[in-house]
Amino acid sequence: MSLPSNFFRADLHTHSTCSDGTLTPEELVERAVSLGLSGLAITDHDTIEPYGLALPRAQELGLELIPGAEFSTAVGDEPVHLLAYSFRPDDPGLLDLCARHRDRRTDRNRAILARLKEEGMPVEEEEVAHFAKGTVVGRPHIAQAMVAKGYISSVSAAFASWIGSGERCYVMGAKFEAKEAIDLIHGAGGLAVIAHPGLISKGSVVAALLRMGVDGIEGHYGTLSIQQEKKWIKLAKAHGLLTTGGSDFHGDCKPWIELGVSWTPEEPFRTLVDHFHAV
Ligand code: AMP
Ligand code: ZN
Ligand code: FE
Ligand code: FE
Repeated sequence: MSLPSNFFRADLHTHSTCSDGTLTPEELVERAVSLGLSGLAITDHDTIEPYGLALPRAQELGLELIPGAEFSTAVGDEPVHLLAYSFRPDDPGLLDLCARHRDRRTDRNRAILARLKEEGMPVEEEEVAHFAKGTVVGRPHIAQAMVAKGYISSVSAAFASWIGSGERCYVMGAKFEAKEAIDLIHGAGGLAVIAHPGLISKGSVVAALLRMGVDGIEGHYGTLSIQQEKKWIKLAKAHGLLTTGGSDFHGDCKPWIELGVSWTPEEPFRTLVDHFHAV
C-alpha cells in the first residue's frame, strides 16, 4: 500500500540504540524522513537522552521531533509502560529518575544472570554489554547474548522460554510506581500517556492510571485490531484525553515491526508540539 506523499504521520513510539533499538537516534531520523513521516518521538526505555542526540539531524532534514521516553512502572503487581512527551529535556527530576532506573537495571540484570547460571546457561555482564550500545541495558540484550552463546535459537525464544514475564529466569526488579513517574513527567512540563494499553491485563489498572492524571492513551498501536483501537480511542475521548499512536519500532531487534506502521494523526501531534513550545 502506498500513502499519498502529503499524508500526515507522526510515529511517537520508537526505540534507538540508547536502549534496545538497533538504529542510532540519527539513523532513526533518517529512516523516518525516507519513509515520509512528518513527526517523530524517540521513546527509549527509561532514558531521555536520544532527543538531544537526534535534534540536529532532525532540524537539518526538516523532521519535527519532540522529546520522548518510555518509563517502566507498575501499578500493584502489573507492569505498566508510560510514555512521556514534550517535557523539558534538561529537567533534573526526570534525569534523576533515569539515573535511578539505571541502578535498578544493573541489580535486576545481575539477578536474571544469576538465575540463568543456575539453569546451566552462564552469561557474563560483559557479554551482555557487547549488545548494548547505550546506557540502558535490558532483557533484549541478555537474550542476544544467550543466542550468541548458543543456548537458544532466537531472541523471541529466549523470552518465551526463560526471561519473558512469568518465566523461570524472569525478575521484575525494583518497582517504580506509576504515580511517581506521572508526577515527575508533569514536574518536567511534560505529558504522560499510557503505552500499548492492550498489554495491560486488568481494567482496574487502566482506571487507576486515569485517576492518577494521565494525559493520553496510545490508541493506535501495531498489534491492536481496529476494534480494539476504537475502544481505546473512545475511552480517551470520554475522559478528554489525547489519543496518540506509534509503532514501537526497535529495528532488527523486532524486524517484523517497521517504523511508521502506527502513527499519531496531525491534530494530537500539534497539541504535543504546542505544549512543548510552551514549557
Ligand atoms: P526490559 O525493559 O529489560 O524489561 O525489556 C523489555 C523489552 O523487551 C520490551 O520493550 C521489548 O522490546 C522486549 N521484548 C519483550 N518481549 C519480547 C519478545 N517476546 N521478543 C523480543 N523482544 C521482546
Ligand atoms: Zn524495548
Ligand atoms: Fe513498552
Ligand atoms: Fe516501547
